[in-house]
Amino acid sequence: MREEQWRAIVECNAAFDGQFYYAVATTGIYCRPSCKSRTPKPEHVRVFLRREDAAEHYRPCKRCRPDAARWPDEELAERVRTVIGERFAEALTLQRIAEELHVSPYHLHHVFKRVTGQTPAVALLTVRLDKAKELLMRTDASVTEVAGAVGYGNAGHFATVFVKHVGRSPREYREGSR
Ligand SMILES: [Zn+2]
Repeated sequence: MREEQWRAIVECNAAFDGQFYYAVATTGIYCRPSCKSRTPKPEHVRVFLRREDAAEHYRPCKRCRPDAARWPDEELAERVRTVIGERFAEALTLQRIAEELHVSPYHLHHVFKRVTGQTPAVALLTVRLDKAKELLMRTDASVTEVAGAVGYGNAGHFATVFVKHVGRSPREYREGSR
């Protein structure tokens, strides 16, 4: 086992998921590096670069499910887009989307960025701002109502974000578009 592999196991570093698997001789179980189970003693750890080699002698961990098939990248990105598109009004975070899709936030962030060219956070922000502009233009909803409708519990925070990205306050935007 290399030093960086041991460090990845200790830190449950999801960046190493897929790069190697580790088995624990005393339990007979193998895991992904990101597994949150108790850190084994280093002398009991066996590292495998291919999952099949680990699976030959060890059973998959029920917690990190190293045997579970992962979605192809495009499909995962599409699922993220769907979650964002349907639920932007909720208090969505990267952590929460990742939990629902049963992947690590790190994995989700990187796959989404690679496939779409933008981060999940930017994608969520874009959807929220587009929806907010639409509501400001087409309805008489107050700024507080618009903020709530696009996932901001705090209207002041919403206004700050809006100004930063659109260049005008929500009120100015509404007046300018009528
Ligand atoms: Zn595990």
